[in-house]
Amino acid sequence: MTTLGVTYSAFTGWVDPPTDVMPALEGELMCDVAVVGGGYAGMAAALRLAERGADVVLLEAGFCGCGAASRNAGQLTGAPAGDPQLLSTLHPRRFPALVHFAEEAVHFTEKLIGRLTTDCEYEPTGNVGAAVSKGQLRKARRNARILHTAGAGVEFGDGHDLGLPEGFVGGFLERLGGLLNPGKFALGLREALLGSGARVFERTAVRAVEPSRAGVVVSVPGGRVRAERVVLATNAYSHDLASAPRRLATPLWVSMAETEPIKPERLAATGWTSRSGIATQHLLMQSYRPTARGTIMFGVRRLQPARGALGAREPDPAVVADLARGFYDRFPSLRDVALQRAWGGWVALTPSWLPVAGEATRNVFYAIGCNGHGLAQAPYLGTLLADRLAGDELHDDLGAVWRARPRFAPSLVLNAPTLRAAWAIDRMSDRLHSFRG
Ligand SMILES: Cc1cc2nc3c(=O)[nH]c(=O)nc-3n(C[C@H](O)[C@H](O)[C@H](O)COP(=O)(O)OP(=O)(O)OC[C@H]3O[C@@H](n4cnc5c(N)ncnc54)[C@H](O)[C@@H]3O)c2cc1C
Repeated sequence: MTTLGVTYSAFTGWVDPPTDVMPALEGELMCDVAVVGGGYAGMAAALRLAERGADVVLLEAGFCGCGAASRNAGQLTGAPAGDPQLLSTLHPRRFPALVHFAEEAVHFTEKLIGRLTTDCEYEPTGNVGAAVSKGQLRKARRNARILHTAGAGVEFGDGHDLGLPEGFVGGFLERLGGLLNPGKFALGLREALLGSGARVFERTAVRAVEPSRAGVVVSVPGGRVRAERVVLATNAYSHDLASAPRRLATPLWVSMAETEPIKPERLAATGWTSRSGIATQHLLMQSYRPTARGTIMFGVRRLQPARGALGAREPDPAVVADLARGFYDRFPSLRDVALQRAWGGWVALTPSWLPVAGEATRNVFYAIGCNGHGLAQAPYLGTLLADRLAGDELHDDLGAVWRARPRFAPSLVLNAPTLRAAWAIDRMSDRLHSFRG
């Protein structure tokens, strides 16, 4: 759909879908491990298992990478998702281990990027938890201190020190990580997987995962797989899969938009010398990043809960208009720059804001819910789980997010009224800030 010159996509703005989508599974087969879901977590798990000599089958409902993997903002971040103060208060003893997990995830993913034949436009710029007001700057300073105490490589600075654009007064730089094209990364990982020993079936939506005497039976519309063990890597879509632990993650729809190409001298005049990715300190953050094709991509600001099953979806024009207002407020010198594209995707948020992995039922494992930080963390989590299934001891980083029991409390905040209220509080604080100048 195209409205007011903006093309709305039900897929992503980063890449086109692959032209070599694999056939669906028809009939019955056996394997050591069946992986359900071909996002970063599932592809990385299957690739690692294949490399370690396991007979592995991956079943993907669409094509590998069609979910959040190719739709995200491409900010490879080295900090845990969620508010550092809240996380360090709720999980005081685990917090340093979570920071370690998040930083190792970036190192792991950078190496993975280096192994792929696809260039995914990686720029190691770091990412900034940025402030748009004095209140947010205080919050950023406090978060920098908490992360630094837990061992993270962060530094606090003003907008000039951190090379931020005009509308940002400062923040904390996470030195690790940077920016990439997540669509190219996802399709590059898919290519590596197709070239490995794993058997990959696309257009194959798993309907049920049931224990059997000899292992697990995975049922799909055209047949079934008998596997010794299963990995669920279904992320937000776990919502629609009865075999996934109940309440494991809440699916929320995140919208993204992209400007038309901007002349390099105009981009430079905004003061964005670092080209670091940006996430604001609002209750519902706003993300901004430059792209390799000379545009600015931005998103989040509003989160929308699911109504029923998660199907194909385009972003809501009212949400895109709201995103655009945020962009023009932060980049006043680019008020004449038009949007060209918008899309969105389902992100999985867990009640604890932590990624989760564990055993759902006997021989059925899961690695899910990186809470909007899965670009680095999901491939790492999938790989750590694969190593565990291949016989390794529980790695400390996997231990940091491992759940002894698959029980999840209901989330009290991830619902429509609370998300609307959070958006309204953010807009009130923006208005207050603009009155004060
Ligand atoms: C708009 C947006 C912006 C984001 N920005 C960032 C960012 O800048 N940085 C960052 O770190 N993270 C970001 N994220 C989050 C990040 O994209 C995710 O955490 C990450 O992609 C999760 O990877 P995954 O493999 O767990 O899930 P996904 O990539 O969602 O993959 C799950 C796969 O499972 C398949 N599947 C589900 N159910 C079934 C079934 N029953 N049978 C077969 N297949 C099934 C799906 O089709 C899908 O391909 C963003 C997410 C969104 C949506």
